[in-house]
Amino acid sequence: MMSTVYFTDFKANSRENVSGKIERLIEAAGISDILSKDDLAAVKLHFGEKGNVAFIRPPYIRKIVENIRKNKAVPFLTDANTLYAGTRSNTPSHIKTAVENGFSYSSMDCTPIIIADGLRGKSEIAVEVNQKHCKEVYIGSEIVSADALISVAHVKGHELSGFGGALKNIGMGCASRKGKLEQHSNVSPKIKKKTCIGCGNCAEHCPGNAISLESISSEPSSSAPDSLNIIDPHPDGKDTPAGKKRSKKASIDPDLCIGCGECILRCPTASVSIQWNQTIPVFLEKMMEYTLGVLQNKQGKSFFINFIMDISPACDCMPYNDSPIVRDIGILASKDPVAIDQASVDLVNAEAALPAGCLKTNILPGEDKFRGLYPEVNWERQLEYAQEIGLGSRKYHLENIKTLTWR
Ligand code: SF4
Ligand code: SF4
Repeated sequence: MMSTVYFTDFKANSRENVSGKIERLIEAAGISDILSKDDLAAVKLHFGEKGNVAFIRPPYIRKIVENIRKNKAVPFLTDANTLYAGTRSNTPSHIKTAVENGFSYSSMDCTPIIIADGLRGKSEIAVEVNQKHCKEVYIGSEIVSADALISVAHVKGHELSGFGGALKNIGMGCASRKGKLEQHSNVSPKIKKKTCIGCGNCAEHCPGNAISLESISSEPSSSAPDSLNIIDPHPDGKDTPAGKKRSKKASIDPDLCIGCGECILRCPTASVSIQWNQTIPVFLEKMMEYTLGVLQNKQGKSFFINFIMDISPACDCMPYNDSPIVRDIGILASKDPVAIDQASVDLVNAEAALPAGCLKTNILPGEDKFRGLYPEVNWERQLEYAQEIGLGSRKYHLENIKTLTWR
């Protein structure tokens, strides 16, 4: 089945600016069909990591919010906390970053920001999907509770998925910390012994009681397992009377670990790391199964908007953004998340690479820009698998919304 994707470029004039075009675009694509009076409508976006400025501009988001209100629904802005320890890994820091990046009550016309998975990323709902990799997926509870979902995604390159668009904004972006960890890895995190200072923070907050502290001696043969409660006569790792240096190091029991990711967040020295053991195709397929879980209770109640501008080579989770790989192209809207992402990559790949960008291969119009960025990542797998599991169609028809003129 062919889906319709609506498109507008960034051309503007004294009769119509880009915000005006956004309104006509989303109305043409049928945003009002998915909204009912008093619906609590989640606007899922990425507020940008501190230091990154490639995220979608707040005035464009405001226009979308205003339109949702016009449809008599009640919008709120949302995202879920990150897996890694950055400026969006817990709700206070996440909201502070959003406000610093321009998403404030005043700029958003009093639209609240509600972080979907709670204070520390633990507020989740397990949604049954019964797919190849996941039987159930863990989604930020406020996303599941919302009546409608409007995904507003920034299209850009991505280190693990090749590109990021609507599907990734939903599948990864709406997952709780546990859900994000499950997509990235199928084994427990590991401790970097070199930098672990033995503070015990991770163990104290581990819900699986999977972490213990081991007292380590400088001579490997004298290492002895310890527990959190043991009284260490040399807790600071100072030299013992015998001249041996001792210190505590955390250790994770993989059989007890439930993969919640809490230890990653709690460590003050970034000594808990994800084991990136998952192959890229499995990662992409899991992400699509998560997308399915998010959209399961939003049938006829979800809508997708992709901004193809400031097309940075890497994710907005980075605390910087490199210069764009191709020119700003336009904005897309659709009710089909697969079709809108397919159209987005097609439009990017049809462009010539910008000379100042980082692309060194696949620079000509028609060449695959995302493969040029990440040759090892078959980004197409996310679209193929999304279509296989019924998320939408890769076949689409592009409907162009032209700028209004005076004649
Ligand atoms: S991921 Fe969660 S359960 Fe596993 S070791 Fe870390 S805190 Fe404990
Ligand atoms: S891994 Fe981090 S939180 Fe855990 S004991 Fe070591 S330094 Fe502390």
